[in-house]
Amino acid sequence: MKRAVARIDLGAIEHNCALLAELVGPGVELCAVVKADGYGHGMVPAAKAAVRGGATALAVATASEAAELRAALPDARILMVGALSRAEADVALQAGSEVAMWREGFRAFLSERARTLGVRPRVHVKYDTGMGRLGDSDPDAVLALCDAVAADEHLELAGFWTHFATADELGDEYFPRQLAAFTALAERVRASHPQVTVHAANSAAVFREPASHFDMVRCGIAVYGLDPFGVDPAEHGLRPALELRSYVADVKLFPAGASAGYGRSWRAPRDTYVGVVPIGYGDGWRRGLSNRVDVLIGGRRYPVSGTISMDNLTVDLGPQTTVRPGDEVVLIGRQGEEVQSAEDIARVLGTINYEITCGISARVPREYVGGEAG
Ligand SMILES: *Cc1c(COP(=O)(O)O)cnc(C)c1O
Repeated sequence: MKRAVARIDLGAIEHNCALLAELVGPGVELCAVVKADGYGHGMVPAAKAAVRGGATALAVATASEAAELRAALPDARILMVGALSRAEADVALQAGSEVAMWREGFRAFLSERARTLGVRPRVHVKYDTGMGRLGDSDPDAVLALCDAVAADEHLELAGFWTHFATADELGDEYFPRQLAAFTALAERVRASHPQVTVHAANSAAVFREPASHFDMVRCGIAVYGLDPFGVDPAEHGLRPALELRSYVADVKLFPAGASAGYGRSWRAPRDTYVGVVPIGYGDGWRRGLSNRVDVLIGGRRYPVSGTISMDNLTVDLGPQTTVRPGDEVVLIGRQGEEVQSAEDIARVLGTINYEITCGISARVPREYVGGEAG
């Protein structure tokens, strides 16, 4: 019995990618986003499963992620969607990563580095249509940069792209405005550079609006079987890949009034059994969940009672219990008929499912089923 383990079903990742590839249809590439250690699922195993499921490109956020991915997947098409500093540029270029760009000064710099290293990086020019982060929001400057990259013998103009701010807010008016601005400039870019890969959609946009698919979609959250709208992944046929499990380290009888944990935030309302589970905020099971969430044991829900500490939490098992030391505890996932999803946990914390799986710390070993992990 391991104290805490994240069990990753690679078959689920493969299934989700196949579903997304089917949804966007032939002629639209699926780029699986595996940044931040594959949203906590393990970057390399997730990437390999995504490729088996039909992803033809992989996206990361940082140069070191690109290098690590390249070492494991020598032939993959890797795209770095995050900011690239001058100090990190060589790492990305030597990894053979495609890179994002939105400033003429950086074009000149990257061109010089490419010449020195003897490589010809594929560049994706980013148009900021309203996310208000990376990218240039001036369409004429963006078009001029596309022309400059295309004319640069040390660079290849590979992509033209943007990112949506509100794709997950169904019915909002901002997403259609971003899409319209992007579509208009994409037509002008394509007129002079017909070979570029035009891409915009994240997972939410893929489900929400086929007109956002263009030549490629960049899916992260849906690849892992999590719902981009924070509701129920099953509504879109997605299968959650990650389960978080621990076990009952001890069971003991508390007299009424006895407390469990730091600060005595919970006291036994009656004589009751308390189970101790050796997982805590040091594993990413956040302290803010104290007294506010359940765990599953023996196919039943039990409340986390008392303050979650770094390495342990306590559960009120009731005045009579069949729970025994060594029993499996499911914190995220299914047990018998009961399910607790990453979306459920996110709702309690007032955050999004992304942050829940990304937050499972490196201390928690990842165990792989349903495919080769290496
Ligand atoms: C992380 C990221 C994505 C993936 O978004 P999901 O909502 O997880 O599908 C797509 N594009 C960019 C630029 C990103 O940074």
